[in-house]
Amino acid sequence: LELLFPDQVETEIIELESRKAYKAWLPKALEKLKGGEDHTSSPIAYVDDSEYIGGCDDFLEYARTQFGGGAAGPRNGHGVGNNGSRSKVVASAKLSIDAESKSGEFDYDLVIIGGGSGGLAASKEASELGAKVALLDFVVPSPHGTKWGLGGTCVNVGCIPKKLFHHAALTGEFMQDAPDFGWDVQVGAHNWEKLVDNVRNYIKSLNFGYKVQLREKGVKYLNKLGSLIDAHTVKTVDKKGKEETISAQRIIIAVGGRPRPLDCEGGELAISSDDMFYLDSAPGKTLVVGASYVALECASFLTGFGYDTSVMVRSILLRGFDQQMADKVGEAMEKLGTKFIRGAVPRKLEKTDDGRIRVHWDEGSDVFDTVLAAVGRLADTSKLGLENVGLKTNHVGKIKATHSQTEVPSIFAIGDCVEGMLELTPVAIELGRNLAQRMFVGREDPVDLRSIPTAVFAGLEYGCVGLSEDAAREEYGDDAIEVYHTHFTPLQWTVPHHREYNVCYTKVVVLKDDDERVLGMHLLSPEAGEVIQAYGISLKYGMTFEDLRELVGIHPTIGEELCLLTEPKSSGKDAIKSGC
Ligand code: FAD
Ligand code: NDP
Repeated sequence: LELLFPDQVETEIIELESRKAYKAWLPKALEKLKGGEDHTSSPIAYVDDSEYIGGCDDFLEYARTQFGGGAAGPRNGHGVGNNGSRSKVVASAKLSIDAESKSGEFDYDLVIIGGGSGGLAASKEASELGAKVALLDFVVPSPHGTKWGLGGTCVNVGCIPKKLFHHAALTGEFMQDAPDFGWDVQVGAHNWEKLVDNVRNYIKSLNFGYKVQLREKGVKYLNKLGSLIDAHTVKTVDKKGKEETISAQRIIIAVGGRPRPLDCEGGELAISSDDMFYLDSAPGKTLVVGASYVALECASFLTGFGYDTSVMVRSILLRGFDQQMADKVGEAMEKLGTKFIRGAVPRKLEKTDDGRIRVHWDEGSDVFDTVLAAVGRLADTSKLGLENVGLKTNHVGKIKATHSQTEVPSIFAIGDCVEGMLELTPVAIELGRNLAQRMFVGREDPVDLRSIPTAVFAGLEYGCVGLSEDAAREEYGDDAIEVYHTHFTPLQWTVPHHREYNVCYTKVVVLKDDDERVLGMHLLSPEAGEVIQAYGISLKYGMTFEDLRELVGIHPTIGEELCLLTEPKSSGKDAIKSGC
C-alpha cells in the first residue's frame, strides 16, 4: 500500500504471534471478522470495524477509489489506530449556522452569557480567531449573601478554593507525620480566618487576571446579567438595574449552575458550597447533607481542620462511581474522623436559642453550628428568557444541545448548563475552545468526551478513568470481565507511626476477550488525581493490560502500583502488597 500510494498511506504492522495475549485472541477475532461473508483466507479487510471490504484485491480497489486522483488519505475520513477498537473516533459536528444572518448586521459576531470556565475559554479563542466578541458575567449573590468576581464556579466557589482547602487539610496530616521524620514540630489549632483570607486574596488575583486577559485578547467584558429577547438579541442589566440590548450573530449560553437548596422545613438555614469558602468565622460542628463530590470533599477538609463533621447520606456514596471504591472512600474518611449518618434525610431545621441549628431526621436529631447542603446543582437558566426563543429545559434547568448546538441555529450552549454533560472544568473549557474553532475556522470534529479522568479530593483521594467495575460487568457480563487489584501502603506512610497500612487500593478493570483491553482504572491514594490524569489518553487509545504491565515504572511512586498489578480479583486471594 505504501508503494502504491506514497505519502498517502501509513501502515502499522502488529506481529500477532509474538504477543501471548493476541495468540489466544486471534482465532476468535478472525471468526468474528468473517461474519457471514464467504471469505476464509487472510487478509480480511475492514474499515472502522464495521465496513467489510473483502480480500487483498478488493482492498486495493477500495484504496484506489479512496486515495486515487489525489484524494485525501484515510486519516481524514476514518480513524486509523492499532486496530478497530483503538481508533480515534472522528465524528462530524459541522455547525448549522443561521444562513439568513450576516456578521455585519450585528453589534457582535458572538455574545457569550456566562464568564466561567466554558465562557471564558470560548470568548478568548473566538477573539483570537478574529471574531468581535462580548462576554457577559454577573454573579447573583447566594441566599446567604456571598458574592464573588469574574471566573465562574471553578475559580471562586469550586475547584480552586476546594483544592486549596484540601491541601490545607493535608498539610495538617503532614505535620502529624513530621516528628517521625525528625522535625521538631507541634501541631497547633487550625486558623480558619487566616485560610479564608489568604484563599480569598488569591482568588481576587485570579479575578483580576481574567479581566486583564480579556482586555488583552480584545474581548469586551460586560459585568451585566444577560437574558434572551430573541435569537440574536440579548438584554443586559447592570448592578444598578440599567437595561440595554446588544445584538449578535451567534450567542453562547455558558451560565453554569448553582447549588440546589435544601427542600425541607427550615432548609434556608443551611449554607451551600457558594458560602463555605467565604465564612468569616469557623464553621464548628458541621452537618453535610449529600454524599457526592461536593459533600465528601467539604466534609473531608472540615474533618482535617479538626471540626466535628457528619455526613448525612440519603442512599449511597458517590452515585455513578465504582461502588467498591466509593465504599473505600467512605471507610478512609471514617478512619480520619468523619462521621456518617446513613439512610437519612433532614426533615426539619430550626434555630436554637443560642443561635445553633437543630436538625431533625426520621430516626433522630442533633444540634450543629453549620449545616451545609450539598445535594446537587441546578442549571442557572430560570431567568434566561429561554421561552422567548422557544428553548425548553429539563427538570434541573439544563438545555438540550447536540455538540453544543441548540435547536435555535444561532444559539449554542456549553458547560454545566447542558443536559447530560459532565460537570467538570476541563470539559467546559474544551467545549468552549472547540465551539469557537467550529464557528470561526470551520473545525468539524466535536470534543472527544471518551475516557475523561476525574478525582474526588476526599481525605484519601480517589482518581478514576473509564468504566467502573459495576458498569463493565453490566455492559459486558461477569464472565467477560477480569479485575486486577492490590491494597498497598505508600512509602511515605511507612515511617510515621500513626498511619494505617494497606488502606490505599487500586484496581484495573479489563475486557478478557479483547486482548485484556483496559476498560477502567481506579486508585484510592494520596495524589490519586495526579496519578490517574495521564491514563486518560492510554484508555482512549486502547491500552491493554499487557501494555500496562510492560510499562517500566518510576520507583518508588504510587503511580508504579498500577503497572505492577498481577493479582486477579477472581482468584479470591487477599491482594495485599508488602515490600518493594
Ligand atoms: P460556571 O463556571 O458556573 O460559570 C457560569 C458563569 O455564568 C458564572 O460566573 C455565573 O455567575 C454567570 N452567569 C450565570 N447566569 C448569568 C447571566 N444570566 N448573565 C451573566 N452571567 C451569568 N470541576 C473540576 O473539574 N474539578 C474540581 O475539582 C471541581 N471542584 C468543584 C467543587 C465545587 C464545590 C463545585 C461546586 C464544582 C466543582 N467543579 C469541579 C465543577 C466546575 O466548577 C464546573 O464544572 C465548571 O465551573 C463549569 O463551568 P461553566 O463555564 O459551565 O459554568
Ligand atoms: P451530585 O448531583 O453529584 O450529588 C448530589 C448528592 O446529593 C447525591 O449524593 C444525592 O444522593 C444527594 N441528594 C440529592 N438530593 C438530596 C436530598 N433531598 N436529601 C439528601 N441528599 C440528597 O452533586 P454535587 O453537588 O456533589 O456535585 C455536582 C457536580 O459538580 C458533580 O457532578 C461534579 O461533576 C462537579 N464537581 C466536581 C468535583 C471534582 O472534580 N473533584 C468536585 C465537586 C463537584 P443520591 O445519590 O441519593 O441521589
